[in-house]
Amino acid sequence: MKHVILSSALAVLATAVAAQDAPTPILFTNVNVWDGESDKLLENANVVVTGNLITEVSSTPLAVANAKIIDGGGRSLMPGLIESHVHVNLQHMLGGYDTIELRDWQEIGAMGAVTAQSLLKDGWTTIRDPGANAVGIKKVVDRGEMAGPRMYQAGGVISQTSGHGDFRLAGQRLLEERYTFKGYRLGFAYIVDGRDATLSAARQNLANGATFLKMMMGGGIFSTKDPLHTKQSSDEEIQAVVEAATQWDTYVTAHIFLPEHARRAIGFGLKEILHIPYLDVETAEFMVEKGVFYNPQLSQSSPDVLEATFGAEESVTKAKARVTQEAMQQTTKVIQQVPELLETMTFGADIVTNTKANALRTRDHEMWFWAENFGILPTLKAMTSNGGKLAALTGKNNPYPDGPLGVIKPGAYADILLIDGNPLEDITLLGASAKMFDAPERTAGDIPAMDLIMKDGVIYKNTLD
Ligand SMILES: [Zn+2]
Repeated sequence: MKHVILSSALAVLATAVAAQDAPTPILFTNVNVWDGESDKLLENANVVVTGNLITEVSSTPLAVANAKIIDGGGRSLMPGLIESHVHVNLQHMLGGYDTIELRDWQEIGAMGAVTAQSLLKDGWTTIRDPGANAVGIKKVVDRGEMAGPRMYQAGGVISQTSGHGDFRLAGQRLLEERYTFKGYRLGFAYIVDGRDATLSAARQNLANGATFLKMMMGGGIFSTKDPLHTKQSSDEEIQAVVEAATQWDTYVTAHIFLPEHARRAIGFGLKEILHIPYLDVETAEFMVEKGVFYNPQLSQSSPDVLEATFGAEESVTKAKARVTQEAMQQTTKVIQQVPELLETMTFGADIVTNTKANALRTRDHEMWFWAENFGILPTLKAMTSNGGKLAALTGKNNPYPDGPLGVIKPGAYADILLIDGNPLEDITLLGASAKMFDAPERTAGDIPAMDLIMKDGVIYKNTLD
């Protein structure tokens, strides 16, 4: 009997604690909802957030006990934005990859933190980092100790010797120096050859906190040892990385320059491809057929990029960028010819080695370029629901497993923006800019129509209070 009384007393206590700890629900009223997928808004709607999840979306008035009410005043309520190609530690690595070697790790990490913070200020509530290990910054953000977006991390890129991940300086000629250069010691890149070493690198990377894997399978701009045409990584090396990812229930993505290398990668089971500046119709249709995700950087075709990023002097990297710039014009046209590809395309500016001001300008212009060439709706979907679907490919390795991202519906994570105006009609409300480096300088967080930013149920900006 005594035992029963004690149990019921504990039950009462537990109920009291639960009531005390239950988060105050937030009720958004008088909002027009864009759900991340539809071609129109749900007008005059109400949205309930309980804890870190969206629990109700309704076009009829709702009464929610003890709720904090935010009157949206007719603003649009939409999903927080997803940037699927951010190199947190490289965005501000002025002077190119060589300067990794010259910088203190604290400076690199602190600038990475600045990048993460600035993205959330502009409404990017989730980012995906396909390489250069910012796993530590992610941990600090996820613990709630620093404001920043959710982060899907590839950790260190996996590259063959002389591949796009081989950032050793020109003078570091010994093979052993792959283990002493800072890019390796900071976990930015694994330079490995052969099946066994590649498999070990993939597994070590996952153990270190990578949620998906990125492999180098073609030439790249900022690396100096690999001409753009090069086919990188052997068949057995690719199979090793795919094997490790499959064992962890996640996916592999690849840096690709030529379309034949994209088809090769897809043949090995890759679920996503990056870049492909020489994309052709045949490859685009093959990607549609296979349902492969695609993340290109289209505003690289702007001639302004060359001067702003590389300066006036000629260099190996500038010459590579010039070729890429011309090729990207072809890619834009091919996407217009195969618009079905847009269904699996995600938005990612892939900004590296930029000033803070030019990084913002590049992303703003990339957004505008998409909308101008493919329409506003596909651009918005690429930045929300498509990004959420790509994030979900991390399977059981997903660091945010409790609901979908990039959509407004019951059960989704409460990552929410309130926009003064209709983004389906005007993409500039989200910061998109027709100008690139000649756009006026702005600072992160000063997008005027973005009145409220919520991530994980927590409000980070609110001009309505
Ligand atoms: Zn990249």
